[in-house]
Amino acid sequence: MALHGGIDLGGTKIQAAVVDDTGAVQGQSRRPTPTDGGPEGVAAEMVVALDEAAKAAGTEATALDGVGVGSPGAVENELGTVSEVVNIPGWEGAFQLRDALADQLGTHVALGNDVQVATDAEVALGAGRQFASLLGVFWGTGVGGGVVLDGRAWLGRSSAGEVGHMVVKQGGRRCGCGRKGCMEAYAGRGSMEREARRRHHEEGEHTELFKIMEKRGRERLSSGIWSRAVDQGDALAESLLAEAVAALGAGIASAINLLDVEAVVIGGGMGLRLGDPYVRRIRGAMMPHLFKDSDPPAVVLAELGDLGGAIGASLLVSAPQPA
Ligand SMILES: [Zn+2]
Repeated sequence: MALHGGIDLGGTKIQAAVVDDTGAVQGQSRRPTPTDGGPEGVAAEMVVALDEAAKAAGTEATALDGVGVGSPGAVENELGTVSEVVNIPGWEGAFQLRDALADQLGTHVALGNDVQVATDAEVALGAGRQFASLLGVFWGTGVGGGVVLDGRAWLGRSSAGEVGHMVVKQGGRRCGCGRKGCMEAYAGRGSMEREARRRHHEEGEHTELFKIMEKRGRERLSSGIWSRAVDQGDALAESLLAEAVAALGAGIASAINLLDVEAVVIGGGMGLRLGDPYVRRIRGAMMPHLFKDSDPPAVVLAELGDLGGAIGASLLVSAPQPA
């Protein structure tokens, strides 16, 4: 049976997996994304991660039938380059990631957009299996999206699926992208943290969020910290999550009004951590904005979890066999 490699490059971690023809993960590895050393340093760490995953699968990188990479930023698979990776320090201009990896791994490498490959994985092997058309919504630090229409990824002219930058409030809160009123300005974990800091430090609102963060030795409000805070009944955390859910509902409903796809698959760090109760809340927040509310799309949780990105990346170099 042929084995393929997949690497999901994120701003905080590199997740590698070795996947067989049925989409089953035979070996995996996770390493922190280096914050110094620029793209060369990141590529070197990606090689280490993939080597470890191959070893865990009882093989080695050179024996793999290709390695796919899901990357943030502007990905040009035909050129083999990745540029505009804002989440990784020192990644300026276009870097020849494909050749850098192929030289060190000794097998061929294909590049894809991180969110799109995660969406493709859910379509081929996960929660999207029974749907021909769907919207993937990856709720994490930002809010990414992937669109599949009649079984094929819709990439637009290269930047389709940016559901996080649907405008949910004209003249609203400033988004990480610099514009105002985007869904991500309310729902992205990065924006939620900025707002939590402002309301806590400037307006004196009480919250356990930063105490939990310190206790856990973290510097950022991870998805797990948000989840713990709401479990403890933290009012500020609940208020910001309610805003996030409302923004997700409005943005997703607007996308559905345009595309009328069969399903919405919710993934990402926040989506996976908060799980089905929040998927139901997002569905509830979507309903009042749906033009055809008598026949809403299915709204479901991503099934492949944290490994979805790496599994999806491996599909770039294999012929997926949907179950
Ligand atoms: Zn934006």
